[in-house]
Amino acid sequence: MQSIFESQSEARASGKQRRVVSLILYLCVSVFICGSTSSSAQERVDLLISGGTVVTMDAQRRVIEDGAVAVRGEAILAVGKREALEAGYTAARRIDARGKLVMPGLINGHTHAAMTLFRGIADDMNLQDWLTKFIFPAEARNVTEDFVTAGTRLGALEMIHGGTTTYVDMYYFEDAVARATKAAGMRGVLGETLLDFPAPDNKTVSAALAYTESFLKRWKGDPLIRAAAAPHAIYTASEPTLRNAASLARKYQAPIVIHVSETKKELDDSRTKNGASPVAYLDRIGLLGPDVIAAHCVWVDTADIALLVKKNAGCVHNPSSNMMLASGVAPVGEMLAAHLAVGLGTDGPAGSNNDLDLMEEMDLAAKLQKISRKDPQALGAIQAIEMATSLGARAIHMEKEIGSLGAGKKADLIILDLDAPHAVPLYNLYSQIVYALKASDVRTVVIAGRTVMENQRVLTLDEPAIRAKARDYAEQVKKSLAGTTPK
Ligand SMILES: [Zn+2]
Repeated sequence: MQSIFESQSEARASGKQRRVVSLILYLCVSVFICGSTSSSAQERVDLLISGGTVVTMDAQRRVIEDGAVAVRGEAILAVGKREALEAGYTAARRIDARGKLVMPGLINGHTHAAMTLFRGIADDMNLQDWLTKFIFPAEARNVTEDFVTAGTRLGALEMIHGGTTTYVDMYYFEDAVARATKAAGMRGVLGETLLDFPAPDNKTVSAALAYTESFLKRWKGDPLIRAAAAPHAIYTASEPTLRNAASLARKYQAPIVIHVSETKKELDDSRTKNGASPVAYLDRIGLLGPDVIAAHCVWVDTADIALLVKKNAGCVHNPSSNMMLASGVAPVGEMLAAHLAVGLGTDGPAGSNNDLDLMEEMDLAAKLQKISRKDPQALGAIQAIEMATSLGARAIHMEKEIGSLGAGKKADLIILDLDAPHAVPLYNLYSQIVYALKASDVRTVVIAGRTVMENQRVLTLDEPAIRAKARDYAEQVKKSLAGTTPK
């Protein structure tokens, strides 16, 4: 600008100079117009993650070296080479991912997040003893809405740190779970547990069903929260309860979250009582369908798998939990061969796992299949990643929105460091992710276009306050069980 004014003052001297100034001004204006034309060719986006290796987990399994992801609002606008996206887009905010790994956010297909506050309360026992002697009494004495809020915040904090962007939950006071999840900026499929005996929040099945209905109504259409009905299992919910839960879910087009065929006992009891496997029984009573998220599916045979595929139900494999409770080994290889949508979950985090680490579950899922089949090819690294991302999204019926990086998908992605001693050197990306990288390598987390963790600092939650409250609750839980160790 200053050079133009100087030229203008000089131009007063003569007409010739005036013409020169006019020419200069004309050129300046032309340059300005041309410049603005070329910048308007650059589309504006809210966030550009540029550089790094982008592992898309899309149908073509594209891996883009020196890649980039453009995000507008809550969705991905484009995924491609850094150079192309930097030329095509101008971003309000940028994240430099050079030297790092960019991949879809992980999906924890089954957990009970608020149980983080019971982490380690009673371990090394079988499911029945753990449930009836410890967890149910501890829950009856401690679980309140405030407890659930505190526990969910702790769970969300842990999951975000470990790269989980979506989780499926089943617990009590699920409305509080939904509020805490939304406030943390996480995506959740959240189900209010339905049981035939009094729960911490609802003392009767009809009260629980009424709670579930208002919960489903309240969260309908929320961009982050998908409310679900969650009948606990066939051994804790009667046939009328299961039927009522299913019809309520279907009235509101909500998913049904349920534990299915977790233990041999559940299978044997179902055969005795129902004359059918848990899967066949659930089909017979009309519960099995394309909205079902069945946790575990450990004790399923070929006919069960075929039925789950036919009904488009999803299964969630929980290797840590199945090992810790000695429940058995789910036939994941057969399930995948039959094209069943199998996701990955942590279950727990109390007694049946004790953490919410999907990176660890990927590693264990692959190794559990290998050892149980005595075959190192029984489940490979890429299949384990699929179960935590693209296939996991199918298992929870959200494959149109999440699970891979591509235009139109929700902007749920994580950025991992590749500099830790256990991360170098790097020959094979998929194998590195599953067998070498850890939750602690997750550096930045974006959910629905919002950065919820940046450089390992969670922006949506108060970490010290959450830790302090968890320790306070642990004191309360210990006192509540002291001297009255349940039998
Ligand atoms: Zn569970």
